[in-house]
Amino acid sequence: MSANTMAPPKRPEIKTALPGPKGKEIIAADAEFVTPSYPRPSFKLVADRAQGVWVEDVDGNTFLDCNAGVAVCSTGHCHPEIVSAIQEQAAQLIHMCGTDYYYRHMPALAKKLDEIVPVARPTRTHFANSGTEAVETALKLAMHATGREKFIAFFNSFHGRTLGSLSLTSSRAAQRLGFKRQALDVVHVPFPNEFRNPFRAEDCGDGGAGQGALNWIEERLFKTTTPPDEVAAIVVEAVQGEGGYVPAPKNFLQGLRRICDEHGILLIVDEVQSGMGRTGKMFACEHYDVKADIVCIAKGIGSGLPIGVCVARAELMNWKPGAHASTFGGNPVCIAAALKTIELLQGGLVKNSAEVGAYLKAGLEKLQRKYDCIGDVRGMGLMIGVEFVTDRDSNRAAPELRDRVEIACFERGLIILGAGANTIRWSPPLILTKENVDVALEIFDAAIAASL
Ligand code: PLP
Repeated sequence: MSANTMAPPKRPEIKTALPGPKGKEIIAADAEFVTPSYPRPSFKLVADRAQGVWVEDVDGNTFLDCNAGVAVCSTGHCHPEIVSAIQEQAAQLIHMCGTDYYYRHMPALAKKLDEIVPVARPTRTHFANSGTEAVETALKLAMHATGREKFIAFFNSFHGRTLGSLSLTSSRAAQRLGFKRQALDVVHVPFPNEFRNPFRAEDCGDGGAGQGALNWIEERLFKTTTPPDEVAAIVVEAVQGEGGYVPAPKNFLQGLRRICDEHGILLIVDEVQSGMGRTGKMFACEHYDVKADIVCIAKGIGSGLPIGVCVARAELMNWKPGAHASTFGGNPVCIAAALKTIELLQGGLVKNSAEVGAYLKAGLEKLQRKYDCIGDVRGMGLMIGVEFVTDRDSNRAAPELRDRVEIACFERGLIILGAGANTIRWSPPLILTKENVDVALEIFDAAIAASL
């Protein structure tokens, strides 16, 4: 599997108990020396090498990866053109500190982003190293540009774990437990999940959950705790990621745009997980015909190298030198990987995400007809959530069943990961083929049958 010339495997191959003996040693060392705060799932994968959609663990077991390192390896693991771009750049210039010096990579990627992001042009880009930093940038910029300091965010959202973004994040209690009061003044609104509409029918009119959320903001927040002219920004994921792969309703995102325009509030769309081709378009916002004022991007943009960007309308990003910067942000090697990633995405992988995603979704819907425990199959492109319930009459959440399915898939060589309380997320590399999907669905089917 290591050499690019070798034919990729067709199926996973599990040869040892999981984890195997070498894996166990690494897990033991990790338990002794590494922070226990990582939210690792109940199955234990100890990766050694990976190529395309295939991951080999330290004991020689081969897995089909439908998680892509949590929606990061958009072009597949170690795509040969990404590897070459990284190697060539590493031999030329690894670091220079773009906050103090110039190099061609920063304007090159910023110019490319100006062409493709769902933000009205002209734009400017600030470079960071991760999703949470891209969000921190957006928050600081919104406060700086508006002179306001309140934010509106949504329950079950995930925007990162540093103190500013943590004030927005609300997908699990463990993320905040022990950290006392939050750094920013954020009010949370129920997210308009159409499968589990949190609003009363009379509050939704004929606009469903989306209208319910808009009414909540305009009729409740704006008239009580949160006067609109004190709100710097509304921060939203077009498709909630960690919260359970829940796409926003179209009328909701479009309504947020209207509310923002009416009150001089900025719309920050967090595309950290949903961006870079994952939903079958370059950005999830494109499904909604909505343009943000500020967009946050990370994960899939670097094919595995750490890079996060905050792109804003140029007139907003008019802060002075020293207002915000990062030593490593926009490192030349990471940007070389990002430019190559975008080339590959535009060269066919976004299209593949749409096509193979539709094929995968159809297969999952077929399984939904077979199993009463699949309450909902939702999503776009290769960002699909499968929500497990006790039965479709009650639609009661079945988190333990979801966990059992996750483990049963792993034991059969399929890597998939939970999101939210009772959903399994499908976020494979965007190079996934229909042949891969057939194998993955066969394993998923067997795993569900064995978990009931
Ligand atoms: N925003 C979204 C939508 C995410 O899904 C994540 C990570 O899962 C983040 C922000 C934070 O990204 P990072 O873990 O790179 O800080």
